[in-house]
Amino acid sequence: MQETETTEEARRALEICNACRYCEGFCAVFPAMELRREFATGDLSYLANLCHNCKGCYYACQYAPPHEFGLNLPQTFAQLRAETYAEYAWPKPLGAVFQRNGTVVALITTLGIALALILTVLIQDPTVLYAAHEGPGAFYRVIPWWLMTTLAGGTFLYALLALAMGFRNFWRDTGSSLAGPAGARPVATALHDILTLRNLGGGGHGCNDRDEAFSTQRRWFHHAMFYGFLLCFASTSVATVYDHVIGHPAPYPFWSLPVQLGTWGGVGLVVGTAGLIWLKVVSDQAPAARNLLGADYALLGLLCLTSLTGLLLLGLRGTGAMGVLLAIHLGIVLSLFLLLPYSKMVHGLYRSGALLRHALERHAGHVPPAD
Ligand code: SF4
Ligand code: SF4
Repeated sequence: MQETETTEEARRALEICNACRYCEGFCAVFPAMELRREFATGDLSYLANLCHNCKGCYYACQYAPPHEFGLNLPQTFAQLRAETYAEYAWPKPLGAVFQRNGTVVALITTLGIALALILTVLIQDPTVLYAAHEGPGAFYRVIPWWLMTTLAGGTFLYALLALAMGFRNFWRDTGSSLAGPAGARPVATALHDILTLRNLGGGGHGCNDRDEAFSTQRRWFHHAMFYGFLLCFASTSVATVYDHVIGHPAPYPFWSLPVQLGTWGGVGLVVGTAGLIWLKVVSDQAPAARNLLGADYALLGLLCLTSLTGLLLLGLRGTGAMGVLLAIHLGIVLSLFLLLPYSKMVHGLYRSGALLRHALERHAGHVPPAD
């Protein structure tokens, strides 16, 4: 990773922290930091992505503004994380998308919806588009099977490839001789930390979600969003098996497995994303990186819109509004797939990688558990 003003600032902050060590029990970052005397750019990238932005070290720090040291570790790490997203993006030129990410996400989503609507209007007779359709294959009478599977499959496979290449770039750049060999135990530890968001627990009392007071709201809203997303993905996977393996095309009854998974996943996504947007609006802005808020709001809005249009489609699928709603929902889903590697969604990938590297260092005996 390249040297920038942000890497210089992160290095300065970590050298002060390494002398102070007051926050060493706060999170995984400090024990990992204490192993290092010097910070190469790869180390900085690793520590920035290991940070869960709980803000505890800002409110506890005697060197935070207005002190002349002006230490603001959560803000510095957030800015550095954004630079790592651009640095590891694949193909490399598309890293530029992270510079005005909020605008790009909003633009691609709008274009995705417009394109899906225009294509549907062009290929379908208006009487088909505005008529009510029922029974197996009703969705394909509005948008043909070949078009739906080509667009959805193509964009999703591309996103998987770009994410895998981004992860490879992150893993190579943050390589460390401190990490032990990969094995089942470090992987299990990392998976536990990822799935429970242990680093947002603040050792049990929670984090500084809004201000100096401790809370677990962000952790629970994030859980609702994350598991909601997984349930929606499971719903799509089950529906794919029903359609292509069993030969039973959508739409399915309300109590069927794909619809139940999708409904509860959609509700989780709406609750989680709305809660996280609310927390961002009401929280103290001092430890936040304000120039990155647009990217945060845009992604949360896109996820919320995906689930809302999915739920609306479920509710109105037996009516004449189904055709237009299906086109809008498909346009949003395609935009989401395309933006997976070029939006803040990548934070989950790199943070998981940082947690795995941290687990390898812990199991090699270098780092004590962070609780
Ligand atoms: S954030 Fe402040 S209090 Fe915490 S270790 Fe760093 S210098 Fe010390
Ligand atoms: S913001 Fe929280 S997770 Fe990040 S370094 Fe500070 S204490 Fe650790």
